[in-house]
Amino acid sequence: MPAMSVIDEVLVANEIYSRTHELRRLTPRPERNLAVLTCMDTQLSIQTLGLKAGDAHIIRNAGGIVTDDTLRSLLISHYLLGTEEFMVINHTDCGLMQTTEGDLRTRIQNHTGTAAVAPAFFYAFQNIEENVREQIQKLRGHPWIPTKVAVRGFVYDVSGGRLRETKR
Ligand SMILES: [Zn+2]
Repeated sequence: MPAMSVIDEVLVANEIYSRTHELRRLTPRPERNLAVLTCMDTQLSIQTLGLKAGDAHIIRNAGGIVTDDTLRSLLISHYLLGTEEFMVINHTDCGLMQTTEGDLRTRIQNHTGTAAVAPAFFYAFQNIEENVREQIQKLRGHPWIPTKVAVRGFVYDVSGGRLRETKR
């Protein structure tokens, strides 16, 4: 018999989960009216933030970057599902800090032997505080994000496990 892939293992686990389906009681509206934009990094989770399933929208991408698509999600989060606070979290030792835009493009292009039109940007960055500040500016400067929505930025230290707020 071939080895089970991780996806196959997930399907087995889901079959077991569905017998109780504990999250059935949750509604689509985050109970604590919070939306978090953060990196997809494995070292960060809702557990890190003292949140449980249903508390918040968790929007993730490489870096925790405000892109056209994260804006789309945050706008839906606020206008359709009632979130009132946006939290942006970048983290120390992020993969996007160990490279540059051109480096990444060249590396993948050399590996695949072909060019591609997308993604236009990988959003590599060098200074983490500055990067968080830029994400906050992109949100604060957006005409559809009301000033009553709290927008705050943080750096998560993966070695110490602590959040540090980034001052404007
Ligand atoms: Zn990261």
